[in-house]
Parts: sequence; structure tokens; C-alpha cells
Amino acid sequence: MKVNISPLPDQKRIFCNKCQVETNHLLKGEHVRRDYDEGGWIEILFRFWICAGCERATLEECYTGNRVRDKDGQQIYFSVYRPRRTKSDFTEKYFFKLPPILDKIYRETIRAFNEDLIVLCVTGLRALIDAVCKDKQISGYTLETRVDNLSNIVPQNMVKGLHSFEFLSSDPIHELRRPPSGNEIRLAIEVCEDLLNVLYELDYNATQNSRNQRRGILPK
Ligand SMILES: [Zn+2]
Repeated sequence: MKVNISPLPDQKRIFCNKCQVETNHLLKGEHVRRDYDEGGWIEILFRFWICAGCERATLEECYTGNRVRDKDGQQIYFSVYRPRRTKSDFTEKYFFKLPPILDKIYRETIRAFNEDLIVLCVTGLRALIDAVCKDKQISGYTLETRVDNLSNIVPQNMVKGLHSFEFLSSDPIHELRRPPSGNEIRLAIEVCEDLLNVLYELDYNATQNSRNQRRGILPK
């Protein structure tokens, strides 16, 4: 039975949050809303998909309009998936001896990254490093000098790694010359996790269990 009234396909590959890979999805229903104004029309298509593997549902919202066409006159659709895709999410890790306030800063920083809240994520990373320095009684007038002084308790290459990220230096966050890219932040998070691992020990079992839970291998 044909379920789509739009010219868009009724089967396609979408990243499935449950299967954690791209899978075939089947269209189960569609609703189109068109609004008119002096500039012409805009259209929103609500498309209800089911993963052909795990049968979990995804809603796609497609946006287009009379002026949204490519050079050949073909209609262009911008789409958003709900719930949002977790493909590039960072998995939170667990540390044996992390003090509660550091744990909270770390987790909220990872969540900010996963929600694409870049400024908050960078602010969280700086707060995390600062809190580590305080917890380990590392002093210094600026964050940069405190990071320098971390070399008394962590390997020098780790300190060098932290210094390589401009957004982790002592300048206020609003004076950054350019916003850091997602990849730069991802690397910075990894260096910070290495720092926590050296000072507070990573709990590999808890980390693995958490990953398995996300993938539905263990019951929550
Ligand atoms: Zn699936």
C-alpha cells in the first residue's frame, strides 16, 4: 500500500539509534502541511519511519518552499530527525576516584558536546581542568600556568596536549578568534579524559557496561 503523497522515497537508509548503524527504514505514514504568504508557499512534511531491523520509530521533518530549488529547478528538502541521531555522540566514561563535583562537570560537559552546545562544552572543559588543578592543589595565577604546573603530576606530553588547544588557554572564552570545530573539541575531551584517567583511574567495566546499555545489549 502506498503511504506517501509526496514525491520523496518511501524507503531509505537512516542511522538507527538502537541498532547503532545505518539501516533500511520503511515509511509508514506521511502528513504534508503547506502555508502560503506573499512570498509564495512553504511546506513541512512529517514522515514516520520504522527501522526494518529493530522496528524502532523515527519522525522526519522535511522543509521546502517555492524558492527552495536547485539550479535545475528540482525541489530541495531540508530534513531533521526526531529523536536526534546519536551517531557522533561521545560516550560518557566512569572514573573510580573522581570527586562528585568533578564528575558532575565532566558529565555535563559531555552532554553539552552531544547537544552541540559548543561554547558551554568548552567552558565545561576549562572548568574541569581548573577543578582538577584545585583538587590536586596545583597553583598558578592563570589557567595556563596551572596547566603548566600540572607537569609535576602528569606526563609532559599531556600538558603539551592541553596547551595545543587555543580554547583551553587562559583567554576569556568570548575572545576566541574562531569557534573550535567539533573534531578539535572531541580531541580536547579525549586529552581531558586521559588526564582524569591518570589522576582518578578509568573504571573500564562500568564504561563498557554503559556502552552496552546504550546499544541495548544489557537491560537498564
Ligand atoms: Zn534499528
